[in-house]
Amino acid sequence: MTIKENVEKILAELPAGVELVAAAKTRTGEEVLEAVQSGVKIIGENYVQEAESVYQVVGDKARWHFIGHLQKNKVKKAVGIFDMIETVDSVEIAQEISKRCAQIGKVMPILIEINSGREKQKSGVFPEDAEQLIKQISPLQNVKVMGLMTMGPRFGNPEDSRPYFVETRKIFERIKKLDLPNIEMRYLSMGMTNSYKIALEEGTNIARIGTKIFGERNYPEGERNSGSSYPMY
Ligand SMILES: *Cc1c(COP(=O)(O)O)cnc(C)c1O
Repeated sequence: MTIKENVEKILAELPAGVELVAAAKTRTGEEVLEAVQSGVKIIGENYVQEAESVYQVVGDKARWHFIGHLQKNKVKKAVGIFDMIETVDSVEIAQEISKRCAQIGKVMPILIEINSGREKQKSGVFPEDAEQLIKQISPLQNVKVMGLMTMGPRFGNPEDSRPYFVETRKIFERIKKLDLPNIEMRYLSMGMTNSYKIALEEGTNIARIGTKIFGERNYPEGERNSGSSYPMY
């Protein structure tokens, strides 16, 4: 299957109102452009540097979501490229995004990343800490919380992801009811290639899909599943 066929199939199957984010880490500008020309409207990038090089090819033909772990020293560049940052998990990073956005007259839509598996080494805020974090972010002028994002486990039986998605959706609903100032709970971004169908059943309206669009990723030799320096998402 070509990238074009993959994109068309996924778009035809996604329910109305669900946005597709093409998760593009390790892909070339040409591959990503093919996806965009086939109907992808949003690119998800994990690394600012990779996004910059793909941006050279794709530019404003798509919108850009940051879906990786954002380091403070990359925020200035990131706010220039991205239209949404899906992975905010601390007040410090939200403050930095807000500060940098203020300098360029932008309000950045952000999602709060939930570490729904409560895995120590993973990014994201623990479910029980999400509400407090959102309340702390709410006064910041140049960011706007628009929902939640979670990964869930990447491998294994997709059904095993369901409890993580259910828990994330519960937090979403609870925070939505609080009706906090400057918080608009609109997006749930859950699931990947192996689990997005489960995520859809549990209410996601952003599907982040990489492998099913572009094929298996080629990691540097020996780095797959090895706790490597190249993060396994
Ligand atoms: C890589 C990645 C995806 C997509 O993963 P696939 O299994 O290739 O579909 C989704 N979300 C995030 C945050 C990712 O890093």
